[in-house]
Amino acid sequence: MSDDTGRGFPAHDANSGSTVSEAAAGGILTIDLGAIRENYRRLKARLSGARCAGVLKADGYGLGAAQVASALAKEGCDIFFVALLGEGIALRKAIGHGPDIFVLNGLPPGSEAEALAAGLCPVINSAVQLKAWRETARGAGRSLPAAIQVDSGMARLGMAPAEVETVACEAGAFDGIDIRFVMSHLARADEPQQAANEKQRLEFERLRKLLPLAPASLANSSGIFLGPEYHYDLARPGAALYGVNPTPHAPNPMLPVIRLQAKVAQTREIGAGTGIGYGHTHQADGPLRLATISLGYGDGWHRRAASAAWFEGVRLPFVGRVSMDSIILDISALPAGRLGEGDLVELIGPSQSVDDAAGHAGTIGYEVLTSLGARFHRRYIGG
Ligand SMILES: *Cc1c(COP(=O)(O)O)cnc(C)c1O
Repeated sequence: MSDDTGRGFPAHDANSGSTVSEAAAGGILTIDLGAIRENYRRLKARLSGARCAGVLKADGYGLGAAQVASALAKEGCDIFFVALLGEGIALRKAIGHGPDIFVLNGLPPGSEAEALAAGLCPVINSAVQLKAWRETARGAGRSLPAAIQVDSGMARLGMAPAEVETVACEAGAFDGIDIRFVMSHLARADEPQQAANEKQRLEFERLRKLLPLAPASLANSSGIFLGPEYHYDLARPGAALYGVNPTPHAPNPMLPVIRLQAKVAQTREIGAGTGIGYGHTHQADGPLRLATISLGYGDGWHRRAASAAWFEGVRLPFVGRVSMDSIILDISALPAGRLGEGDLVELIGPSQSVDDAAGHAGTIGYEVLTSLGARFHRRYIGG
């Protein structure tokens, strides 16, 4: 299915997402668009015929929605999802007209004209939103595209079952609405043994049959791996495209997408008993060699995230607390003088995955990615 049409998006400067030069930055975030494309192809290959969208909310999970959209378009992807209207407007400006952009959280009341002007499709989550879009369509004098979301058992977004039943009995409820998809979202797709998945799927089946006939969409990244009965007409992966493991109980079937490196700002040698960092939470047992790197919680590196950096395969443990703009590493395992000012150590890469870093912090890869800050030099490769 993959075609390389290049789809007429405005050409991107390879580093258009970057505001900081490599020399000026404390850290370098390398984003492999080729790996994102390969991940899209891998997901598509599992779908046996269903279409595959790209979820680009939170600026493409922190990696650059416009750059990711362009890369996915080269694989033939022409349906994108964002969370907010503002994200949709920005993405439409960046990629131009052509692909469908759906707004998952629905349109805030009164914003319908703005969505229409930007050529965006709402995901309609309530009867009130349905009425507002129907009236927008009437005013526009033509039918307008939308997705209808039903809540099959997550209690987050979408029409509740009772609301679906009410709307289904209302004459003309969908007048002027071009229903592109009826969709729902799974609460526990990353837990394949959970009966909740099948329960949601059956409830989705029931609810969508109450609505006008339209293509269906249920699976996020993990949902794709629950089996073909979850695929329907359109899958909506996000995390897996960005290299987060959609099957946390098994080896990661996706390619890693990012590499995060930080610059050494300074090195020093200290003697036994020296207190290290804020609160002196660490005291040297004996002489140590230390390196301070220019990356901290101000860059989205949680104070409790992974506790080591890597250099040429050698693990360099953090010592003391993570600061806003710096972290102190014990580099005693390296030969003296091997690591100096300006050298790069790795925080995320072959030695430590996004999921590894997240696991240490008691969080998920999604949060590690979307937390990555604005101070890095961003380098796009493989586009
Ligand atoms: C975020 C989201 C997705 C994508 O989920 P992943 O787990 O990142 O694949 C799909 N559908 C909806 C409704 C979402 O909110």
